Amino acid sequence: MLSYYVVLRSVVRLKPWLRKCLARCRHCGIFFLTHARNAGRQDLGCPFGCREAHRKSQSTRRSVDYYQQPEGKIKKCALNARRRKTPPPPRPPNPAPLPWPRPILEHVRVVVGLIEGRQVLLSEIVEMLERILRQHRMVRTRRIDQGVAWLNAQPP
Ligand SMILES: [Zn+2]
Repeated sequence: MLSYYVVLRSVVRLKPWLRKCLARCRHCGIFFLTHARNAGRQDLGCPFGCREAHRKSQSTRRSVDYYQQPEGKIKKCALNARRRKTPPPPRPPNPAPLPWPRPILEHVRVVVGLIEGRQVLLSEIVEMLERILRQHRMVRTRRIDQGVAWLNAQPP
């Protein structure tokens, strides 16, 4: 969490024009970068769960409201009848499982897109994160190796 803010702050310092893209989650209060088109909005949910949770509860409420109206009830009957008649469409093949939660990846994609000023693919983000993690792991291993080498050279 702290490191998230450290990264966010250094990004905004490096790219001052991104300051106008800073938004605050109205549910949990966390700051995050968003599209410039959302600049100044006060009603945004963060991409770390709030936006998703909020959207889900809203769409449930909408469809419950709708199907309680007479017009909606008729439509639902028709829908159910049709559903009974036609076999369910085949499921699309499962996309490759993502190594990170999708909302997080989408957020990183938006931020990287803002920083680089271009459209970034989700697959690029996955690749980038995997590369960064690999480098971290390598640096850590190297440090441990150096520590072991030092201990070997200076026996207690
Ligand atoms: Zn939030």
